[in-house]
Amino acid sequence: MTALILDGKHVAQLTEAELSGRVEALKLKSDGRTPVLATILVGDDPASATYVKMKGNACRRVGMESLAIELPSSTKTNGLLREIEQLNHNPDVHGILLQHPVPSHIDERACFDMIALGKDVDGVTCLGFGRMAMGEQAYGCATPQGIMRLLQHYDIALEGKHAVVVGRSPILGKPMAMMLLEANATVTICHSRTRALESHIRQADVVVGAVGRPEFIRAEWIKDAAVVVDAGYHPGGLGDIELSPLAERASAITPVPGGVGPMTINTLIQQTVESGERALG
Ligand code: NAP
Repeated sequence: MTALILDGKHVAQLTEAELSGRVEALKLKSDGRTPVLATILVGDDPASATYVKMKGNACRRVGMESLAIELPSSTKTNGLLREIEQLNHNPDVHGILLQHPVPSHIDERACFDMIALGKDVDGVTCLGFGRMAMGEQAYGCATPQGIMRLLQHYDIALEGKHAVVVGRSPILGKPMAMMLLEANATVTICHSRTRALESHIRQADVVVGAVGRPEFIRAEWIKDAAVVVDAGYHPGGLGDIELSPLAERASAITPVPGGVGPMTINTLIQQTVESGERALG
């Protein structure tokens, strides 16, 4: 069996073409105004700076504006909370992205939760998570929502399937598990204290790797015809899953790079356009 490639880059490009049309239509209706994404970068971590830049570039590709806020690493929790509050009240801002991780002396959870629900286009607030988990309207957390969109695009059936999510972080593993549950999969969540990890993964019809360690999940643990989703990205183009032996055994696979990564940014942009449409349209 040759695995179907779940091509996130392609799906993101298709969506960007559609979003460009929606932004153009919105401009015509609202005196040239576009949705605006505010990005907040705290400190000088080069990887975070690159991600924020990529998000700004994606805004420009669909004709939408972004507002880049850069704060020094000495910023305190209160200072960041005030900055977010101002953006919450700014009617020209439709989405707020606080780049994760912030420096460790800042209470990141408090800052995420300061983001107004209607502008939480990266899906990071507890309120948004709770609403999503209850099946209520909320913007999904960008990476797992991007994964769900990718699976939907390729008509990957989830109902009744056993999905095993390896990782339980607030921005990835946990919301991923809830979204799969909402899609009627039977979900197992594994983490660093899980015993006999391999035996859980062997049972999976759908495996999601969100561990943060290169090729930690071995190909031999994954059963034939499984759907393999790799959220990881490490130097040398490695994911969290040993992918190459699975190309001939899995039923579907996300490439690294070009699978989950492009869908994350694309979901952020899509949700900002939705928020802009609610405010301006
Ligand atoms: P994280 O916050 O470091 O969480 C890692 C998770 O893996 C934790 O829940 C941890 O368990 C679990 N884990 C660690 N060692 C384990 C082990 N030996 N066995 C089982 N579970 C183990 O990372 P994250 O932010 O969720 O990111 C995960 C991966 O996704 C990384 O590779 C990251 O680069 C990637 N990522 C990609 C995107 C994208 O846009 N493509 C976005 C975000 C993240 P505990 O909770 O018990 O510590």
